[in-house]
Amino acid sequence: QPNSVEARDISYHMHSYTNARRHEEIGPLVIEKGDGIYVEDASGKRYIEAMAGLWSVAVGFSEQRLVDAATRQMKQLPFYHNFTHKSHAPVIDLAEKLVSIAPVPMSKVFFTNSGSEANDTAMKMIWYRSNALGQPQKKKIISRKRGYHGVTIASASLTGLPNNHISFDLPIANVIHTGTPHHYRDAQPGESEEAFATRLADELEQLILAEGPDTIAAFIGEPVMGAGGVVVPPATYWEKIQAVLAKYDILLVADEVICGFGRTGSMFGCETFGIRPDILVMSKQLSSSYLPISALLINDRVYQPLADESNRIGTFGHGYTAGGHPVPAAVALENLRIIEENDLVGNAKRVGAHMQKRLRELADHELVGEVRGVGLIAGVELVADKATRAPWKNAGALGLLVNGHLQENGVISRNMGDTLGFCPPLIITESQVDDMVAAVKKALDASLPEVKG
Ligand code: PLP
Repeated sequence: QPNSVEARDISYHMHSYTNARRHEEIGPLVIEKGDGIYVEDASGKRYIEAMAGLWSVAVGFSEQRLVDAATRQMKQLPFYHNFTHKSHAPVIDLAEKLVSIAPVPMSKVFFTNSGSEANDTAMKMIWYRSNALGQPQKKKIISRKRGYHGVTIASASLTGLPNNHISFDLPIANVIHTGTPHHYRDAQPGESEEAFATRLADELEQLILAEGPDTIAAFIGEPVMGAGGVVVPPATYWEKIQAVLAKYDILLVADEVICGFGRTGSMFGCETFGIRPDILVMSKQLSSSYLPISALLINDRVYQPLADESNRIGTFGHGYTAGGHPVPAAVALENLRIIEENDLVGNAKRVGAHMQKRLRELADHELVGEVRGVGLIAGVELVADKATRAPWKNAGALGLLVNGHLQENGVISRNMGDTLGFCPPLIITESQVDDMVAAVKKALDASLPEVKG
């Protein structure tokens, strides 16, 4: 129908990360409401939101306390900012709270609105700091292939996925990429996780030496890669990477935009993997994405030179109108209270163990190459041929096919190429996990005749 909501979406709305021509053909899935781990579309069909939206809705889709916190703050003070010494209670309270729960000693919090902006901000802080220390040549940032850090010019440069570079003339100067800790895809036959981790650390060191150690300012990585296909690092990876960084006086930025606030079964992915960052970037589950907010926790190693430099030249010339907006800050604070009071981190650990076990039962399926994950984040990598690990037709085709059947079966996942992501709200129960896994099994079975037939 020409005036249907679907037709109007096709007419007027250009979607993020969407193949435009394909969208004109198949149209949108219009979601109308949410309840717990479920969302409902315009026809009344209910889905388990197995991606928590975009890895983000920790407390589920119907948390009245967040609505109330936003309403209270809207009435009290709907907007204020933190430029030029101004402040207000929600950002002060939230900054204090974040410092208190940081996985390593941190001294300050800087507020931004999205993960991309937070990573841009991290880069600017790092460059500013190098200038402050009289090391203007120390500006390069090492990121990883398949890493995901956002889409602004700078953060898209950090991102290590071809789709974010091709046709944008990216990456910009001073951003270089090293190898991915993807054991299933990139390890040599028979190579143990530990040996693979050693090889990646050696590769990093060789890159640093080739570029010149005094030109490398920082290394950025997600504790577990999300959009790159839920890549869980091999055993000993982070310990070996950090030893190399320490040797050459290189800062470490942990991008906790997905892992932060319980996802991996600890409050931060840094705790799960023994990572000691100088800058910790967070967003998404910080407010359960009910409102946009992101933040950087920085330690004194970063803050003190920044403060000195800004004293010397005037100000740290950076900040966003809505960075430190009181309403998302109030929502984030209430969200953190809910996470703590309801022990959602513990739930992620307990129910996460169940989810990992149940999903691994699918590993025997003919179309499944590997199941990996930790806590309440998992990836199911699909292959057309288990022995050769080859894709069906072309890369991503099988992911799209199975994901389509999964959606028919009432589960919203996301295919990152041929890997299906599972990252449900942290409130999920074991029996809801069982429902989800049963739907995945059904979708795999439904896809099999098409692939093998
Ligand atoms: N960093 C990571 C690890 C992410 O997963 C994302 C988004 O998915 C970003 C950064 C970018 O965040 P945003 O989309 O809010 O800009």
